[in-house]
Amino acid sequence: MTCDRFLAALDGIDNEPLPADLAIHARSCRACASESAALRAAIGLYRLPDLAGSSDITPRVTALLPFMPAPRRTVSMRDWIITGFVIVSSIVLVPLLAEFRALKAVYGSGFTLPVFLALGSLVTLYGGLFVMSHLDDFSRRLKAWQIHQHGRAA
Ligand SMILES: [Zn+2]
Repeated sequence: MTCDRFLAALDGIDNEPLPADLAIHARSCRACASESAALRAAIGLYRLPDLAGSSDITPRVTALLPFMPAPRRTVSMRDWIITGFVIVSSIVLVPLLAEFRALKAVYGSGFTLPVFLALGSLVTLYGGLFVMSHLDDFSRRLKAWQIHQHGRAA
């Protein structure tokens, strides 16, 4: 059974148990199994009694969950790198600005100290957020490294 034949046969089934040949394919093919599950969930959603007048929205929300995209909790690595580059660039470029030099000439360390404290706080905040948001990734890499070291020592 090919995936195309599975999906074609799945169209003809009306939420009844899968015939044996389809069930065998679904057990060995993840894509077709998830397609089948999604279709069954959609049919189940379609067959729900009319909930427009119901005050309990729990069954409706529960039925919709499989169709909702997974929440995106992370900032992409590209955005982290761009942000870090902007912060480092500002630390390097701000002292080169004519305005910075003019204010430094007038106010001296009374101006430069707060500016560099603010930039230092920004770097600390950035580093802290980066580490906190990548703890899972660091933990996974540390475990892989430990397994690698253990394998090397043995
Ligand atoms: Zn398949």
